[in-house]
Amino acid sequence: MTQPYRIEPDLDFVRDVIRSGGDTLKKCFQCATCSVVCPLSPADEPFPRKEMIQAQWGLKDKLVKDPDIWLCHNCNDCSTYCPRGAKPGDVLNALRKKAIEHYATPKAIARRVGDPKYLPQLIAVPAILIAVIIALTNLWWHGDGPTRVVHGETIVLDQAIRSWEMIPMWAVDVLFLLTALFSVTVFAKGLLKFWKDLEAQRTRKIGILPAAVDVVKQIATHSNFKECGTNQERYLGHMGVFYGFVALFITTSCIFAGVYFVNLVVHVPLTPWPLWNPVKLLGNLGAIALLAGLFLVIRNRLNQEGDDTASSYYDWFLLGIVATVGTTGLLAEWVRWLGIGFLYYILYYIHLVAVWSLFAYTPFSKLAHIVYRTTALVHNRACGRELLTKAPAVALTETQGGEST
Ligand code: SF4
Ligand code: SF4
Repeated sequence: MTQPYRIEPDLDFVRDVIRSGGDTLKKCFQCATCSVVCPLSPADEPFPRKEMIQAQWGLKDKLVKDPDIWLCHNCNDCSTYCPRGAKPGDVLNALRKKAIEHYATPKAIARRVGDPKYLPQLIAVPAILIAVIIALTNLWWHGDGPTRVVHGETIVLDQAIRSWEMIPMWAVDVLFLLTALFSVTVFAKGLLKFWKDLEAQRTRKIGILPAAVDVVKQIATHSNFKECGTNQERYLGHMGVFYGFVALFITTSCIFAGVYFVNLVVHVPLTPWPLWNPVKLLGNLGAIALLAGLFLVIRNRLNQEGDDTASSYYDWFLLGIVATVGTTGLLAEWVRWLGIGFLYYILYYIHLVAVWSLFAYTPFSKLAHIVYRTTALVHNRACGRELLTKAPAVALTETQGGEST
């Protein structure tokens, strides 16, 4: 017999979802067209209709733990075919923001990342921190001149390159390592809680490892994005941003390993490396892929806004940081190569502020979806929830407020 469920609506939660881009929530009259057309909805307990009614009722506790909100890739097929003009894709997007706020601690940062009035505060923190580090290191650290001793050997650095150092590399590395440690800790705490909540909801049928292998393949090929019927451009944009990040991560790891580990064993020229160095080439290609992907994502988002789809500040916060990281990184390198010192210092400073923001705010921003979505996908796969095989988009008339056939 079905157990009675006591509903305790959280009206603040409903208001927050509406403010965060889910402003069409109240239009839903539960026809279930969205669950039928969604290319990613499983046969068993499909979404997003159930999330629409739960959000209308303000069932915060249920929704922030719901793994299905992470299965959605925001393609907006459901929004296109909703006969009431509701936007379930945007509502799920707003629910993911609330879920990230729920799992990330400290809550004070989580609240600030999602609220535009705190943007100046969020920028001021790294801007002041990095300015102080530059000032301090320039006051008492003067480097070791045009030479550096590595394992008893004196290496002559290119004086022209050496003189470009605005802040010693070790200071940058210490700062970013500590910041990365903070982010990893926040993620670890949130994930443990999320995993416990997932385990309480469904039983696993296969092991985590085979499920994880399947999900990694799915992410690498972006196969879920290809299922999308009405918004294929998101696939290319997301792919560019994803592989851009992967290339930049490999580049940064190689530079870090080269400076601190390889040099301990074999003496290789220290960074900065020339532009034609393979690691540097990979970094440049990564930055170009990132910016091209970002361009497509932003264009797509603006087109959707023109189509009356709500876009929250939360999304733009992340897009702004990633765009700043990519453009200032690329421009700083080229300006340095051209020898324009003053511009280089400004660009590099902004670049450091943006990279720090990306590192520190990731567990509270939309980028946290990388961690929560992957976890939900793995758990879903391990529970044997399969996708419904169907071709809804061609079987329906594109109505946007009309009737589905
Ligand atoms: S298609 Fe629209 S009206 Fe129908 S259940 Fe989905 S959101 Fe609600
Ligand atoms: S936005 Fe796309 S993936 Fe998400 S619920 Fe709607 S149709 Fe499904």
